[in-house]
Amino acid sequence: MSVYLAVFIVLSFMVWIKCIYYRHRKNVVKSLKHVMNVLPNRDTNGADIRALIVTAHPDDECMFFAPTIIQLVELNASVHLLCLSEGNYYNQGAQRKQELRKSCAVLGIPDSRIAIVDHRKLPDDPKAEWSVSLVSSLIVNHMRSHSFNMVLTFDGSGVSGHANHTAIYKAVSHLASTGQVPNECCLLSLVTVGLFRKYISFLDILFSWLLPSSLRCLVGSQGYRQATDAMLCHRTQLLWFRYLYIILSRYLFVNTFHIIPQGPKNLKIY
Ligand SMILES: [Zn+2]
Repeated sequence: MSVYLAVFIVLSFMVWIKCIYYRHRKNVVKSLKHVMNVLPNRDTNGADIRALIVTAHPDDECMFFAPTIIQLVELNASVHLLCLSEGNYYNQGAQRKQELRKSCAVLGIPDSRIAIVDHRKLPDDPKAEWSVSLVSSLIVNHMRSHSFNMVLTFDGSGVSGHANHTAIYKAVSHLASTGQVPNECCLLSLVTVGLFRKYISFLDILFSWLLPSSLRCLVGSQGYRQATDAMLCHRTQLLWFRYLYIILSRYLFVNTFHIIPQGPKNLKIY
């Protein structure tokens, strides 16, 4: 009897996940319009989106943002990456830059849309305090030169709590609160979940669906394989716990975002 019950529960769960994928496919463009503040009746498709993902290290793009990049690329959005360090903690910067480019190629970001910063004041170091004014000026200059209408980055907990990740959130929040974000550009922060949810793989899709967020990006088995292939491009990082991460992390299946609220625009008075 208990075997039948277990089979019933597993099957129901799989059907539920399937329904979530189906509904997500139908609603993702609507959610994107909502976060971009586009009127629901206005015709918008993915090709109107110019998205910038801002990360701290080579491998952040696939470890944390793969579902988002894959989903946006599928919608024909123009997806760019700004990585604020070469990941030189173990003096492997040159190699890690190459790995990043390979990983991005797997995810669908061409070389021409990748910018990697190498600045002595922005070391790859969890103990380093990155300057908010330096990081925010690098980000806003990049935003202005490419006319992005969507910027996605870490939240205040930075998924792993790494100081370089949280420094980016502080810088983007600073731009938002001081009205320096170019018009019609929305800012989104990647939700950090607790340890339990972080390591229950695709099962977290259910929690991510039920809990409120401004935007959700989900991938199925094909997207998961793509995310895994991108992770495997970072050969210098492939220690045993990375393989566990690939098996267990929800961030290879689902990303959820909150909108970073913006203050009044910084108007110039002549
Ligand atoms: Zn990182």
